Amino acid sequence: MKIKRIAIIGGGTSGWLAANHLGSSLSADEEIEITLIESPDVPTIGVGEGTVPYIMKGLKRFGISEAELLISCDATFKQGIKFVNWMDTTRHGENHYYHPFDEPYPAGFDVSAYWLAHESNRPFGDVGIQSRICELGLAPKRKSSGEYEGMLSYAYHFDAAKFANLLAKNAKQRFNINYLSATIEGANVDSDGNITHLITNDGGELAFDFYVDCSGFSSILIDKQLKVPIISKANELLTDSVLVQQVPLTGSEPLNPYTTATAHKAGWIWDIPLTTRRGTGFVYASKYMSDEEALELYAQYLGVEVSEISPRKIPMQVGYREKFWHKNCVALGLAQGFLEPIEATSILLSDFSAELLARNFPKHMSDIEKLAPYYNKVITYTWDRTVDFIKLHYCISDRTDSPFWQDNSNEQTLSDELKERLSRFEISPPNQSDFFSKFDMFDEKNFLYVLYGMNFHTNKSTISPQELKHCKQLFESNDALVNEAANQLLNHKDWLVGLKAAMQNIRR
Ligand SMILES: Cc1cc2nc3c(=O)[nH]c(=O)nc-3n(C[C@H](O)[C@H](O)[C@H](O)COP(=O)(O)OP(=O)(O)OC[C@H]3O[C@@H](n4cnc5c(N)ncnc54)[C@H](O)[C@@H]3O)c2cc1C
Repeated sequence: MKIKRIAIIGGGTSGWLAANHLGSSLSADEEIEITLIESPDVPTIGVGEGTVPYIMKGLKRFGISEAELLISCDATFKQGIKFVNWMDTTRHGENHYYHPFDEPYPAGFDVSAYWLAHESNRPFGDVGIQSRICELGLAPKRKSSGEYEGMLSYAYHFDAAKFANLLAKNAKQRFNINYLSATIEGANVDSDGNITHLITNDGGELAFDFYVDCSGFSSILIDKQLKVPIISKANELLTDSVLVQQVPLTGSEPLNPYTTATAHKAGWIWDIPLTTRRGTGFVYASKYMSDEEALELYAQYLGVEVSEISPRKIPMQVGYREKFWHKNCVALGLAQGFLEPIEATSILLSDFSAELLARNFPKHMSDIEKLAPYYNKVITYTWDRTVDFIKLHYCISDRTDSPFWQDNSNEQTLSDELKERLSRFEISPPNQSDFFSKFDMFDEKNFLYVLYGMNFHTNKSTISPQELKHCKQLFESNDALVNEAANQLLNHKDWLVGLKAAMQNIRR
């Protein structure tokens, strides 16, 4: 039987990402009809403001204009993350390092061995220029740069609700995605375990051939109907609670072209600049910190009294589904699983999974049994390695100021793969061959910045005179490039204000 009618349940970021991916892959087939169903009663999670450069791939494919994204979603550029106090402050004082998006060094050069032997008194970020561009508050693009092109790599911070609206408008207009406002209460399943109908809360039945569950933490199909369990990762990732507070702009604060992630004694705080407000969140582990203490420390960070804030608390169940594709149902987004938000991995995983589904979409029901095992294998691998990358930020820290940090470095809270990788990286720095799967979302480039941003110990090795000369030159030319870039690139805020003015002129 040909699959013709597809339902996407949920109109948050993952639902509309799925609608655009499936729409762009399948809309040329006139027999296929895609409908997105969204409950008028269940709000979207409303957070998820940081992204990584992978997002551009989809946006370009969907035909979304970058200028429209920037203006309509109050977006700013994100060139990476500034990690503050992830190291012991009694040993290092107030400390920070950057994990920027640019490649740490030109392909073919192993600058990390040189940095370890000769330059480790400088920040590892100096192997490139982007950390310093961030610190200078510059935009990653020139005024004349084309859409989705920058002098440096970048992603975005945006208002999550506005981003979902933009994706919705595009999916409806460009790919003829149908939209239905209805709350799904359950489903009927046939004797093979495939879903035949959705049941709405007013008793109606909606029949489709294939179902994509993007219903967020409700997980109305994958969990409530199909009972696919979550594999918990709470033993590895210890944070399980978040307080979220939007902060109005005063007008005098800088518009940082990066996310700030400030560690505290049982987790960390995100600070994301939008053009209209700041998005902040206090991530903590309830086993190690009470809600009251979290609120106090959060208020302290924001520079206000506890009585002046009323943050929303979001509990986090850390883990992912045992299967993401079961019978004729695939789960995406928060229905697929959730990891704490450091490094903005969730939209990335939704986007990647939706793209993989669109590229491997079954034409007939009989294709499902051939495609689903492969899909589940790939997505499980990406989740596992993403857990490792998040864990890396905690387990190599030398902070011991609380049981939270002490427990995080306990070997028993690391996966075997991460343990194995870290023991190799003590002998020599990570390189491409350590990340041989295409599905490692975070590879040697990301590991290098985090490992050496946090003073990870790798044995020094000897390097040839020729390599020494090249690397020395690279550091010198980077220093010169930073000065040049400072003359060529606009201040981040000025770039965005300039874009807004230019768009207003065009509309007049
Ligand atoms: C604290 C926190 C911080 C985060 N920060 C980041 C970040 O910086 N970067 C990042 O990449 N990700 C982040 N995420 C994750 C990000 O929020 C999600 O990946 C993203 O919003 C996708 O969510 P979703 O679409 O799966 O779910 P939601 O946004 O919750 O949408 C669910 C949709 O399903 C619908 N629905 C629910 N039940 C039913 C039903 N019964 N019938 C019909 N419709 C239904 C709802 O109406 C809604 O439209 C964060 C998450 C949390 C919790």
